[in-house]
Amino acid sequence: MSSAEDDLYQQVVLEHKRAPRNFGHLAHPTHQARGTNPSCGDRIAVELELQGEQVRDVAFSGQGCAICMASTSMMTEAIKGRDVAHAQALQQHFRAVLTGEEDPDEAPLGKLVALAGVNRYPNRIKCALLGWHALMHAIAGQDGAATTETPGTGE
Ligand code: ZN
Repeated sequence: MSSAEDDLYQQVVLEHKRAPRNFGHLAHPTHQARGTNPSCGDRIAVELELQGEQVRDVAFSGQGCAICMASTSMMTEAIKGRDVAHAQALQQHFRAVLTGEEDPDEAPLGKLVALAGVNRYPNRIKCALLGWHALMHAIAGQDGAATTETPGTGE
């Protein structure tokens, strides 16, 4: 990684840590999940307002290290107003980049690519993925609820 990329990484993390986006609670969350990362002490919760397949709104709360807070903050920006399928695809690419399975230059991460530098710090990868884990748990709850609302599944 060049020093320019390193500077960007530091800037983005510090900026989101200082002013996390979508931090707080939703008035009417339809889905939510908590995430804890005992190895670092990060504890966060993600709230979603899903309408059909769309993430109408998202918020997170809790406390974590700079990388956890920055990653979760950027996650909320990246998925708000987007489809659930888009959020799931982003999670897979983000995870693959951090674990070294995917080249950050080829992954469609958008702004999240600024966090690709975390892959140099194996003990911080869990911090960066925590918010995404909570998001996937929250969405999985939606799948369970959606089944009861789908007419004519023909069980
Ligand atoms: Zn952490």
